[in-house]
Amino acid sequence: MLLQSRAVFALGLRMCSSHVIKGPLMDTARPSSDMSEFRKTFSKAKHIVIITGAGVSAESGVPTFRGENEKWRKWQSQDLATPEAFSRTPSRVWEFYHYRRELLLNKKPSAAHLAIAECEARLKKQGRSVVIITQCTDDLHRQAGSKHILRIHGSLMETRCVSCGHVTVNKRSPICAALKGKGAPGPDVADAQIPVDKLPRCDESDCHGLLRPNVVFFGETLDSHILTKVEKEMEICDLCLVVGASSIVYPAAMFGPRVASRGVPVAEFNTTATPKTEYFTYHFQGPCGTTLPPALAQHESEVIY
Ligand SMILES: [Zn+2]
Repeated sequence: MLLQSRAVFALGLRMCSSHVIKGPLMDTARPSSDMSEFRKTFSKAKHIVIITGAGVSAESGVPTFRGENEKWRKWQSQDLATPEAFSRTPSRVWEFYHYRRELLLNKKPSAAHLAIAECEARLKKQGRSVVIITQCTDDLHRQAGSKHILRIHGSLMETRCVSCGHVTVNKRSPICAALKGKGAPGPDVADAQIPVDKLPRCDESDCHGLLRPNVVFFGETLDSHILTKVEKEMEICDLCLVVGASSIVYPAAMFGPRVASRGVPVAEFNTTATPKTEYFTYHFQGPCGTTLPPALAQHESEVIY
């Protein structure tokens, strides 16, 4: 319930966290970076939740368009991934998403994606579970072989009809004829200004409504069915990893701290400390592709099947 009421996709500190975190956590010491201690905790965990963010995909070369140096034309994703931008300039927003979809076609899972997928498959044979809660809208966890994935921000490779609501997987390249060769990211590229009837349209009979990427735009509410599953996983997990997440995108930024508030160990793997690092038991600094594989490798206590 708590989560559902804070389920608007937002950047920064718009949401107050004081109601979510109950009481002080563990102690005021800095999080530990003792890998052998983490490995002991890992070896005993039966139900592991792994929250992943853009950092994991960045190691596969997928840009986030969140930084000043990572713009598409003159804009960052928070300028274009909004209901207002889509309604005002659907052609420009579709060019942006077309560019991002095309970029994904030749991206491969990173070492972090692969380590997570291998860990899920291995632990499953031991009756233990790994669930991924991801903010990434690419398909790289699935490509790596992960099975249990909750995509809280939707998928770039799905579309949703704004008229009938139909959601479908759509991996066409280009997604429609008018977008072929469009979407170049340079700062001086002019908008293609594609007429709205030439943008991706619904295939359902008699609908022909405008399609949009099936991703959660900034300011929109996250899918309540997925959030219900996320709630359940956060309630039952006995270990949580926060991997490559900047912890500034809400509501996901609160997932790790919420688990920590139950006294469950939470380990953060990131290139830098984040605004939520202080809540966590462990913090491992560096590229996730370097820090995560040894953390999730087979423990000496694991029975091999
Ligand atoms: Zn439709």
